[in-house]
Amino acid sequence: MSKRKLSTPLSTFTRKCLTSIAPFSPFKSSPTLKRCTYISSPPPPITPYHRLLHDPSYCSLGNLRASVKSVSSVSSRKIESGCWNCHAMPESAPFLVCQSCRSIQPVDISVDYFDIFGLEKNYDIEVKNLEGKYKNWQKKLHPDLVHSKSEKERDFAAEQSAKVIDAYRTLTRPLSRAIYLLKLEGIEVDEEQTVSEPELLSEILEIREAVEEATDSEDLNHILSEMQEKLRHWSTVFANAFKSRNFEEAKSSIQRMTYYERVTDEVAKKL
Ligand SMILES: [Zn+2]
Repeated sequence: MSKRKLSTPLSTFTRKCLTSIAPFSPFKSSPTLKRCTYISSPPPPITPYHRLLHDPSYCSLGNLRASVKSVSSVSSRKIESGCWNCHAMPESAPFLVCQSCRSIQPVDISVDYFDIFGLEKNYDIEVKNLEGKYKNWQKKLHPDLVHSKSEKERDFAAEQSAKVIDAYRTLTRPLSRAIYLLKLEGIEVDEEQTVSEPELLSEILEIREAVEEATDSEDLNHILSEMQEKLRHWSTVFANAFKSRNFEEAKSSIQRMTYYERVTDEVAKKL
């Protein structure tokens, strides 16, 4: 049992998990759609955002960030002055398309990931309801639908779409959702922080030994269900701590969830 393994920064794990989630791709289920669309109209220019939609293998967090960055020259802003084109005020947030002149609006930085899906800022959300809303957003923002718009508006759409992808990925996973909720409260979870709590350290050692010694799928499945039980438990602890605004406890729950998820990943790989 090496000390090095135990002190792996949380960020390593978090990155690994985030990159393993593929975004919804409108072409994934119907690969012929892309070709058909392009026969009747010239293909839109390939930007990192387009690659993100068309090529699932392009999806890594690094690329996603690069993609978001590449469109961020378009100014994200807080919508206070209404539509950039006709100055009409939005009827409701998030302000995607102006209801008066139909022009696409830039990302509103005051709109958070929960707002995008019309959710209260709670840890307990119905994740299964997110997918439909996510697909609806992607349909509205799809490059093929906005390619007749001005370059400025296409950039706005790409920027909005990148934010929706990020929101979906963050909210669907309990751990990243928990970290995000704390972030909204102004609390950064230190992902480089190593475990110092003796009780947790010895527990991790024990679990790691069990994983290494597991010889068959029965052993591994047993560990897996134990980890899922622990994740459920610490997820509830986080939810209660967050509700009662006990942010220290919330952070410590996040640290535990991070480790249990990492073990879950390792076990899943061995299975
Ligand atoms: Zn307008």
